[in-house]
Amino acid sequence: MRKALKQGEFRVYYQPIISLETDRISEVEALVRWEHPQRGLLSPDEFIPLAEETGLILPLGQWVLEEACRQVSLWRERHPTAPPLVLSVNLSARQLEHPDLIADIAQTLRENTLKPDTLRLEITESVAIEDMESAAAMLQALRGLGVQLAIDDFGTGYSSLSYLKHLPVDAVKIDRSFVQGLGLDPEYTSIVRAVIAVAKSIGLNVTGEGIETTEQLTQLRALSCDLGQGYYFSKPMPIDSISTLLKAS
Ligand code: C2E
Ligand code: MG
Ligand code: MG
Repeated sequence: MRKALKQGEFRVYYQPIISLETDRISEVEALVRWEHPQRGLLSPDEFIPLAEETGLILPLGQWVLEEACRQVSLWRERHPTAPPLVLSVNLSARQLEHPDLIADIAQTLRENTLKPDTLRLEITESVAIEDMESAAAMLQALRGLGVQLAIDDFGTGYSSLSYLKHLPVDAVKIDRSFVQGLGLDPEYTSIVRAVIAVAKSIGLNVTGEGIETTEQLTQLRALSCDLGQGYYFSKPMPIDSISTLLKAS
């Protein structure tokens, strides 16, 4: 993996996130891939766990951040009148506890002349609640930079809804497993309704992840979910394809 990073075998794919109010793309999420010379395109589930174990997630995560910021900055330059686009980047636990994180992010934003609020960092719920106190301190420091923060995969970490209030974040992303139960299982609908209601009552933005059907989208709209992401709209795609999609929209 170390060699692959040096040889440039990693790719950043981008998945659009749609405003359910305006139907426009308001964000893109950067999702890493490994173009393995023998094994083909590998998904993050196949190598992120190992990267976290070995610590290689630190240079890999920084590379994803730099590459995605560079692309979004280029997009801004080429399309100065396009509506603002937020870039979401996933952070791992290892990155979150690393002392250089804040400085590295600040420098990357500066080098690409991106305003801090263009960047939304996603932290998985289980990471945020595992060590609430130190996570909250780190998140607070990140917020001091002016970047946006989102809790990813919400609903999978068994935290109570009241935890949301204690984390200095701007947004939550409801995990795909809940969205996929919408319309099939009334309990899932109740859970999603409750999450959206609580999140919005404390001023958080809500994204529904993994939307695949019209039914799921209709239900999320009815529950006033702010943003939607999923194969229904588009799969993650390479930079050229997302640029074409952005231009068209
Ligand atoms: P995530 O951050 O929750 O990203 C969303 C995942 O759901 C992506 O999987 C995306 O392709 C997938 N997805 C989106 N819409 C749908 C849908 O409608 N149906 C289904 N079945 N799946 C959908 P992907 O790209 O395989 O990434 C998996 C996870 O790997 C991510 O979950 C994230 O936790 C992690 N990851 C990806 N890139 C990075 C990275 O650069 N750094 C770190 N630390 N983690 C990353
Ligand atoms: Mg994510
Ligand atoms: Mg997620």
